[in-house]
Amino acid sequence: MEELLRQWDGECVVVRHDPPTQAWILIAVHSTRLGPAIGGTRMRGYPGVSEALEDAQRLASGMTLKLALTELDAGGGKAVLCVPRRLEGAERAGLLRRYGALVHSLGGLFQTGPDVGTSAEDMDTIAETAGPFVHSRPEGSGGAGDSAPYTALGVEAGMRAVCERLDGDGSLAGRRILIQGIGNVGRHLLERLLQAGAEVLVSDVDARALQQAAAAGAVRVVPPDEALAAECELFAPCALGGVLNEQSIARLRCRAVVGSANNQLARPEDAERLQARGILYAPDFLVSFGGALGVLGCETRGWSPQEARERVAGSIRRRLAEVLALAEAEGLGPEAAARRLAERRLAAGR
Ligand code: NAD
Repeated sequence: MEELLRQWDGECVVVRHDPPTQAWILIAVHSTRLGPAIGGTRMRGYPGVSEALEDAQRLASGMTLKLALTELDAGGGKAVLCVPRRLEGAERAGLLRRYGALVHSLGGLFQTGPDVGTSAEDMDTIAETAGPFVHSRPEGSGGAGDSAPYTALGVEAGMRAVCERLDGDGSLAGRRILIQGIGNVGRHLLERLLQAGAEVLVSDVDARALQQAAAAGAVRVVPPDEALAAECELFAPCALGGVLNEQSIARLRCRAVVGSANNQLARPEDAERLQARGILYAPDFLVSFGGALGVLGCETRGWSPQEARERVAGSIRRRLAEVLALAEAEGLGPEAAARRLAERRLAAGR
């Protein structure tokens, strides 16, 4: 833990042990340079608290980059509730309320929303004690609801920008696209791609998710261990982080990677491995900012859902085109070019 804290370039980490549940609460505030640190609350088990801290720190850094590429004035953070087992009922609500009180005590330094393991309904529970520092609550509670439809819309816009760059044609009709992970984002993305006339392949470890996907339209199911080697134009990781590593990159048979999963690159040098294989990588922190932009735009800037959709699609398509042009002009990979744009905005400040 000491080493992780010492080497991190973020602002602070708030750590609290929760005796009633034996959970650890970790709030990583990476940057408040552009505004309050905003990021989801992840609830899951980890081998140990160090692994949970490392996850919180990496995800918080990603949020800083993600939000710096949007037109919002927001910094990056992330919370992890590292739980010893799945919590339900009163035990779960108790932890969420105590966590909410901790968020409230930070006075807006950190603001949160749902992430892996927490739902929009959980945000209502957290808001009982955290007050106004909770986003993406259900529409019935005055929030903008689920972010996944905005995220999927952003991924589709990213795909169009990539195809435009590759072929001078942003249409997705007839293109073969593989979605890895038919969860919240993947489901919405599948719907959009089918509407756009793409030939969609899907892969998931959950048989029920695959059944629903098959019922949604003409899709081919690819077993999880064959997904990386499936021949397609675009590969869309919408499941886990770390999916692009030395072994998996060698197996890919796609022209480009464009997906929502956070932290897709296992190591920074994997960006160069993709480039060496001639595979265009659309940086995950750019392609997946649609969820945050759509929800925060509605909740903090008063956008209507229609305006939010237009801004998400337009923003991601333009930003990615800008990144790909900069990458070509400067001889950089797209990941490095996107970081450069985010760092420029961070250096300029608010
Ligand atoms: P989710 O948990 O609803 O869906 C993930 C899906 O991936 C599940 O169906 C799961 O069964 C599947 N999966 C897990 N392991 C797999 C494997 N090895 N191979 C194939 N499928 C596998 O999550 P989500 O909300 O859809 O988010 C997907 C990804 O996008 C996550 O990495 C998340 O952090 C990221 N993301 C989500 C949002 C959002 O708005 N929900 C925003 C930005 C980024």
